[in-house]
Amino acid sequence: ARASAASAPITDGALADGTSIPLLANLGNPEGAADAVALGAEGVGLFRTEFLFLSSNQAPTVEQQREAYTKLLAAFPGKKVVVRVLDAGADKPLAFLNDAHEENPALGLRGIRALRASEDILREQLTALAEADAATDADLWVMAPMVATVEETNYFTALARDYGIKTAGVMVEVPSSALLADRILVDADFASIGTNDLTQYTLAADRLLGSVASFQDPWHPAVLRLIREVGDAGRANGKPVGICGEAAADPLLAVVLVGLGATSLSMAPTALADVRATLLQHTIAEARDIATAALAANSAASARSAAQQAATR
Ligand code: PEP
Ligand code: MG
Repeated sequence: ARASAASAPITDGALADGTSIPLLANLGNPEGAADAVALGAEGVGLFRTEFLFLSSNQAPTVEQQREAYTKLLAAFPGKKVVVRVLDAGADKPLAFLNDAHEENPALGLRGIRALRASEDILREQLTALAEADAATDADLWVMAPMVATVEETNYFTALARDYGIKTAGVMVEVPSSALLADRILVDADFASIGTNDLTQYTLAADRLLGSVASFQDPWHPAVLRLIREVGDAGRANGKPVGICGEAAADPLLAVVLVGLGATSLSMAPTALADVRATLLQHTIAEARDIATAALAANSAASARSAAQQAATR
């Protein structure tokens, strides 16, 4: 039986054998930081910066951004904070950046592609992040969304490092980047898997469309295989691989993700306690066995039940 998460004291995320798995928060604005800390977040695994851009019809100034990033970083002294640069397009359209007439915006000029096309916005964001980093004591990591190629990885990491960002990585949320993770992680300092988009693109099913919602299931063995590719590449290159999609908030799937090679998990802060309690019940060897059982399944539903069975053996 699962330990009572509500009454358990907050400890750092770890497996039963003591393997450390930092449990981090997904945040959409700096105001959420205090609650995340209270709920036991050991840092931030995904800070979505779209909130600064979505409510306006022009980009925020460097000063406005610096203020927001400083507030965020100041809430996590000595802790890792992963900030994602602007992810505009598809489910997060921005009037001043995206073309509203694209027929397939999910396959269009979005994420890092849109930033490259409007590089001033990316440069201003990196300027503000570097300034906030200099003014605070958090361990700032910066990553790019929707990276699909090694070339995009090299472009982003080189630019970020030019601005003094010490740890530059990429999100893996497109199948091509999962398949190329061994190449991507030669240059990138880390990868963070976005399971929401990775599932959407792997199953070719719009994540916002109700009629295909049954495909949007990160338990699908096709998604798990891609995650394994990234986990293996992280191990081979000695680079961290985080998970920041909704999948990490499912306690049993969190165990599977660790078994596939994830070295940290980031989630909505309210999910931290249950995930922490469940991880504590399994060793890394057990997590790998549970992941192997899920990988062998033919469907999302059977992967879940195979994992469930393996977890209770
Ligand atoms: C994801 O795609 O899994 C992710 C974390 O990014 P977002 O949900 O913001 O697209
Ligand atoms: Mg995404």
